[in-house]
Amino acid sequence: MTKPTNQKLSPATRLAQALHFYDAQTGAVTPPIQPAATYARDTDYVPRKPYNYRRDGNQTTAQAEAIIADLEDATESLLFASGMSAANAVIEHLPNGAHVVVPKVMYHGVLNQFKMYHARNRLDVSYYAAGDLDELAAAVRTGETQLVWAESPNNPDWEVTDITAAAEIAHDAGAKLVTDCTGTPPCATRALDLGADISFHSATKYLNGHSDITAGVLSVRETGQYWDDIWTVRNLQGTVLHSFDAWLLIRGMRTLFLRFEKATQNAMAIAKHFEGHLKLTAVRYPGLPSHKGHAIAKRQTGGQYGGMMSILVKGGEQAAIDVARFCEVFYPATSLGGVESLIEHRKTVSGEGFPVDPTLLRLSIGIEDADDLIRDLEQALARAEN
Ligand code: PLP
Repeated sequence: MTKPTNQKLSPATRLAQALHFYDAQTGAVTPPIQPAATYARDTDYVPRKPYNYRRDGNQTTAQAEAIIADLEDATESLLFASGMSAANAVIEHLPNGAHVVVPKVMYHGVLNQFKMYHARNRLDVSYYAAGDLDELAAAVRTGETQLVWAESPNNPDWEVTDITAAAEIAHDAGAKLVTDCTGTPPCATRALDLGADISFHSATKYLNGHSDITAGVLSVRETGQYWDDIWTVRNLQGTVLHSFDAWLLIRGMRTLFLRFEKATQNAMAIAKHFEGHLKLTAVRYPGLPSHKGHAIAKRQTGGQYGGMMSILVKGGEQAAIDVARFCEVFYPATSLGGVESLIEHRKTVSGEGFPVDPTLLRLSIGIEDADDLIRDLEQALARAEN
């Protein structure tokens, strides 16, 4: 249960208290985990709750969905077992041959889904350079395009897309805009406010923040047949987020604002320290005034740029891999948005054929002491032959 109040509370307060949750029977301030696979009907043979069976959803997951919907100011949110399954539900609900427009470079898993559906003629896919509104406008087909996908900031180059402008282009063509703002979650970027129709996040990342679940979420203001169809894909595929993971997500989200603020402070300190570094050819971080999308990022995040950045290492691919290998505080691991800092050689992780600079290292900056992270990178750069 959540206790009603007439006080106007900030999103940070509502999130910290999981919408002021308490258990009606015991007063417990944390929600229970409801793991049932099936539900007994009442004596009139009517389901007691909107769930008959595990794949329909469950109370704990619905609680997490309510919290995210509140944060996004959405009418409804749907949680999935991973970001990839949430993205797949959006793709799968489209009719055969639907025209969609997606970035040429974005998170490789989602891009590969579009490419696979394209190769099988299930979808007709056009591509645009991430953040390039002219290319986006040229790629949409009025009256034909059904969906535009934008990832901002995009992986792993951190190009920023003006979501409001992209929404206008999509809407003028009669298409819906889906945004993936996993790198700047709704404590920073409220994509629905900016004009997106579906706000998608890999909740594995900042929303959960502790690298101990995978989850994906879709949030919308306007429901209707398309939203029912997306729900049906989740139901058919059985990809609703498990209640144990929903519980961990609720716990993780309580500290989202704190974690994200600290990650932003750390990332800013690291980006400033390494910008112009002798052993690097570039630092890509939207928080830096020198970043070409800085002004848009500032507007869209309120200055909360988050912890995601990339550095390009002098000396070639092996030198970059060596820097990742020689780090002792950063974990040499994929993923992002956790409390612990991660470093990865993106070309190794995204696989052959993905358009990424071979000297690029993606950093997910956590909440540790920034000086420890700077020292660690400095010693790794000094050891690597570059
Ligand atoms: N979108 C972005 C920007 C991501 O970084 C990821 C995962 O790294 C995904 C989507 C996919 O999410 P998941 O790993 O939860 O399936």
